[in-house]
Amino acid sequence: MLWSLFKILVFVAIIGLLALGGHFLMQTSGGVQITVAGTEFTLGPLQSVIALGVLVLAVWLFFKLLSLLVATLKFLNGDETALSRYFDRSREQRGYQALADGLMALASGEGRIAMTKASKAEKLLNKPELTDLLVAQAAEMTGDTKKASDTYKKLVTNSATRFVGVRGIMKQKLAEGDDETARKLAEKALAIKPRHEETQDVLLNLQTKAQDWAGARSTLTSKLKAGYLPRDVFKRRDAVLALSEAKGILDEGATVEQQERAIEANRLSPDLVPAAAMAARAYIAKGKSRAATKILKKAWEVRPHPDLAHAFAEIEPDETPEQRVRRFTALTRIHPENMETRLILAELNIVAEDFPEARRALGDVVEKRGDARAYTLMAAVERGEGATDAVVQGWLAKALNAPRGPQWVCDNCHDIQPEWGPVCQNCHSFDTLSWQTPQTPEIATATGVHMLPLIVGALESQTEEPETVETAEDDDVVEVTVDAVEVADDAEAQKQV
Ligand SMILES: [Zn+2]
Repeated sequence: MLWSLFKILVFVAIIGLLALGGHFLMQTSGGVQITVAGTEFTLGPLQSVIALGVLVLAVWLFFKLLSLLVATLKFLNGDETALSRYFDRSREQRGYQALADGLMALASGEGRIAMTKASKAEKLLNKPELTDLLVAQAAEMTGDTKKASDTYKKLVTNSATRFVGVRGIMKQKLAEGDDETARKLAEKALAIKPRHEETQDVLLNLQTKAQDWAGARSTLTSKLKAGYLPRDVFKRRDAVLALSEAKGILDEGATVEQQERAIEANRLSPDLVPAAAMAARAYIAKGKSRAATKILKKAWEVRPHPDLAHAFAEIEPDETPEQRVRRFTALTRIHPENMETRLILAELNIVAEDFPEARRALGDVVEKRGDARAYTLMAAVERGEGATDAVVQGWLAKALNAPRGPQWVCDNCHDIQPEWGPVCQNCHSFDTLSWQTPQTPEIATATGVHMLPLIVGALESQTEEPETVETAEDDDVVEVTVDAVEVADDAEAQKQV
């Protein structure tokens, strides 16, 4: 409403000004004198203004006519015209229609139709960056890998489609199982698009598979930089990779670099058990037993683990069993109720031949959460306290049927692995091993259980067998835990001394 009023006011003002201007011009004297071929024309002020307007119009008309003339000349010369443009447009339209049909066929899984449409679009459009993509996809769908790879190679030559081409060839190499070439291509693709998440994952996977830990660490860092990885996950995985670097060097003999890597891995992720154990060993090698103790105590606080206990024992290899029990209180008092703590304490006391103390350490573990290791230890305690063979064999028979307790289990494929590694041996996924009790506890086979009376009977006939621990060792069917075997060895050695 206000706006209309404003427009009306402006209109009235312009009319008023024009009238005022015309009136002013008529009032003023003088004008323009033009001499054309000896005749003089005298124009008044108003007439001069009108004449100027006519002149401007004439110039505009002249240029218009000139451009029309040029266009006519071009037409006669055979240049692009409205007519040829019409045909071009129709050709382009049919090309895009073919492209759209091809995409539709691709989405509906009709590879052959997609292929036909793609070659039609290729002819009509002359835009290889568009049609090549369709051809490559259609060729993949129809299983024509040769055609697909040729098209990907064409895409690589164009800077706009280079990434798509490299990625396509990379995927083909992955499918062929040529990991080495695929890794190089993934590196190339990432150089073009450093933030491409899928390629980062592929490269990381291939690098860990090829044990290129340094390369994997740099890929992991670019994942963090691109914002695809939370910082805590990055730290943990970086630690795993640093540890893997240390492990690789360990195979060729302990070096300073290996020690530093292990210590770095532990610093990055103090709760990573293998890193803590390896870092502690690195410190032991350097003669820094206090630093080793500190690291192991810190890791034990997060999670008691047999590997930590082993490393802790290595700090003082020459101490007596009694001294060892005393030194271990630094660890065992941290989580006194933890299953692992109690088993370790029982083992140490068995080696020190303090059987009542070992029995006290085991406590109700045997009744509540008995596994093969706990039952084996119980058998050793019973034998140490002079129980009959029947009692000892009873415990060993139980161990045969009991679950094996926590182990390194892959979170991805649930495969059980004998020792920790950065990559699952079964499914090759990275950083998926965790220390846990398997969901399907490894129980001895049905045959094993049925054989039990025979085995126990055989054992009963060998009553002259003096050593408990030897019984456990000879019984091949019972796969006793590594720890128990070591304890057995130690006890034996102790007795021989
Ligand atoms: Zn796995």
